[in-house]
Amino acid sequence: MGPREDRSGAASNGARLARPGRRRTALLAILGCAALTGLVTAIALSRSDGSGLPQNENTVATGASPQAASQAAAGDLRQVSGAGPGPRLEAAAEPAQPAAGDLAGRVICIDPGHAATADAGVEPIGPGSAEMKVKDPGGTSGIVTGVREPVVTLAVSLYLREILESRGATVVMTRSGPDYSGGNRERAQVANDAGADLLVRIHADGSADPSRRGVSTLYPALIPGWTDDIHTQSRAAAQAVQAAMVSGLGTADLGIVERSDITGFNWADVPAILVEVGFMSNAEEDVMLSDAAYQQRVAMALSQGIGSFLS
Ligand SMILES: [Zn+2]
Repeated sequence: MGPREDRSGAASNGARLARPGRRRTALLAILGCAALTGLVTAIALSRSDGSGLPQNENTVATGASPQAASQAAAGDLRQVSGAGPGPRLEAAAEPAQPAAGDLAGRVICIDPGHAATADAGVEPIGPGSAEMKVKDPGGTSGIVTGVREPVVTLAVSLYLREILESRGATVVMTRSGPDYSGGNRERAQVANDAGADLLVRIHADGSADPSRRGVSTLYPALIPGWTDDIHTQSRAAAQAVQAAMVSGLGTADLGIVERSDITGFNWADVPAILVEVGFMSNAEEDVMLSDAAYQQRVAMALSQGIGSFLS
């Protein structure tokens, strides 16, 4: 997916490119008149250099690289100032000092759901519980693509890590490759050990009903001794992330869902949520979820929700 993004990008470039052409015509007209006398020429040239005409127009109108044009479209006028790829561009292209970022000092644990190999071992669903659950049933898989859920959750998680780190956050991953050994208790422990401000668990949904689609965010029910310390904050995080996902992806809103049976919640000592980013049992969402551009949109929406919860 992502055609909507592509189209809007092209439209933006087009609008940006159209303006220089018009201004260039005006500039040529000024120069034409100015040619009548040297004095007027000097005045006209001085005006064209310093009259406030956007300098980037020259770059774009005289055949700047697509890269420069896209930088102009992105509003980075500094990068394309001057009339071409001369020393000024080189100087401007020096890497900027990384900003501290709005998430500096924050620690976020990302847990990409499942792993390449399912784990039929069992573990207690909470501290001291006799109720046991399978460590990793393996997750769902795409009805059209056949792609497995752990592949999608990892891809989205790696994009999310990149975005969060660019905003200054410290990111801890329960896994950053296809393999993982341990159960959901251990996944929660990774977040606990890191003293994470939030544990974000990424999953994709499956349903026997192929028409079912949309996103939901799970959060821990209040269970005294287990989740009473994280319930309220987790709920707030779920609300923030769910809202950002719905508005960022324009997909069906299946709401936030309280759960008492999630091992990875009941062992958590830090606020925790689990985001179901779409249904792999729905043909359209399955295809989208394996598309890199859509995975990046999901990651961006997640990061926005996480950011609004943490700020
Ligand atoms: Zn899952």
